[in-house]
Amino acid sequence: MNDATQLADKLQCAHLKDLQPYQSARRLFSGGQDWLNANESPFSNDYELDCDKLNRYPDCQPKSVISAYADYAGVSKDQVLVSRGADEGIELLIRAFCEPGKDRILICPPTYGMYAISAETFQVGVEKAPLKEDFSLDMDRVLSVEKQVKLVFICSPNNPTGTEINEQQLRTVLQAYKDSALVVVDEAYIEFSSAQGCAGWLADHPNLVILRTLSKAFALAGIRCGFTLAAPEIVQVLLKAIAPYPVPEPVAQIAAQAMSAGGLKKLNQQVSLLNQWRQNLLEELRAIPELTPIGDIQANFILVRARQKQGLMDNLVARGILIRDQSKQFHLKHCLRISIGNNEQNQRLLAAIKTFYQQEGQ
Ligand SMILES: *Cc1c(COP(=O)(O)O)cnc(C)c1O
Repeated sequence: MNDATQLADKLQCAHLKDLQPYQSARRLFSGGQDWLNANESPFSNDYELDCDKLNRYPDCQPKSVISAYADYAGVSKDQVLVSRGADEGIELLIRAFCEPGKDRILICPPTYGMYAISAETFQVGVEKAPLKEDFSLDMDRVLSVEKQVKLVFICSPNNPTGTEINEQQLRTVLQAYKDSALVVVDEAYIEFSSAQGCAGWLADHPNLVILRTLSKAFALAGIRCGFTLAAPEIVQVLLKAIAPYPVPEPVAQIAAQAMSAGGLKKLNQQVSLLNQWRQNLLEELRAIPELTPIGDIQANFILVRARQKQGLMDNLVARGILIRDQSKQFHLKHCLRISIGNNEQNQRLLAAIKTFYQQEGQ
C-alpha cells in the first residue's frame, strides 16, 4: 500500500468504505458505436453560444431558463428549481430534508438507482416497498412504512419498467404522507408517455415534488440540466443547500434555446419519431421467440426478458452495441433494457440479436 492508499483508507468516511459508485452506462462501457444503454436521445441538435458573458459568474437560477421551463411545464416561476441534472435535484432533496443517521427515504424497486445511492452517500437510510409483479405500486407496503420516512420516490414512467403509476394511487400516497413526507414523482420520461404528468397537481398537494430533465426527450444529456418542481416554500429550502453557481452560462444558453418555440417544435418531432421507432422495435422484438418484452413502453426504452441473457449481452458488446443489464434488480431476473436508437441502430441491434440466437440454436 502506498501513502495515498493508506491515507484515503484512514480518512474517508466509514459509510463510504463499502459504497459502490453508481454504475452509469458511461462508466461501464466507454467504447462501442451503438449506445442504447443510457436512454439518451439519438438526435444531436445545434445551438449557438454567446461568449460575451463567460468572464462572469452565472446566475444561480438563470431567469431565462426558469421562466422557459415554467411556461413549458405549466407552473409558476417560483415553483421551479434548475440544477445539474435531475440527479442533483435528488441529492438536494435528500440533503435538505433528511437528517443523516435518522431519517429515511422510501423507494419502490425495481427503479432508478440514484435515489438509494444518493441517500447512502449522505448516511440516509433506504426503506423499500417493491412493486408488485405487474409493476404496480404495492399500496399496503407503501402506506405502512411511514416512520421517519421523509421522502417517497416514485418514478413514472418508471425506469427500467416503462410503466406508469396509477393516478388514483398516487393521490392516495400524497394524501397519506401529507403531514410527514414529500412525495417525489420522477418524470424524467414524461414527454414519451401518453400521460400528462402531475405538474397540474402542485396546487392541490403541498407535499408533491416533481423531477424533470433535459437529458432524455430534449436530447441534452451532455449539458446536465434538470428541474425540480414544487411549492415555492419547498424550492426555497432547496436553494439553501444548492451550490452558488450550479448552472454554467453555456448550459443556461443552450437550455433556453432548447425551450424556444423552435426548440419545442423539434422536441415534439423527435419524440414522435422515437415513439414510432419504439413501436416498430417492439413488434420486431416480440417476433423473436427467445425474448419477451415486459412492463410497458411509456418511455424511450424497452425492457425484455431474454434467454441466455449473458451470452446475448456479451455478443452485443463485442459488436459495439451496448444495452443495459437490469437482471440484478428486484423482479428482473434475465432482463435487459434497450434504449430506442435511430432506425439504423435499431436495425443493427435486431440483426445482431437474431444472428446470436440462430447461431446458438445450431
Ligand atoms: C436519466 C434519469 C434521471 C437523471 O436525469 P439527469 O437530469 O440526467 O440527471 C433521473 N431520473 C430518472 C428516472 C432517469 O432515468
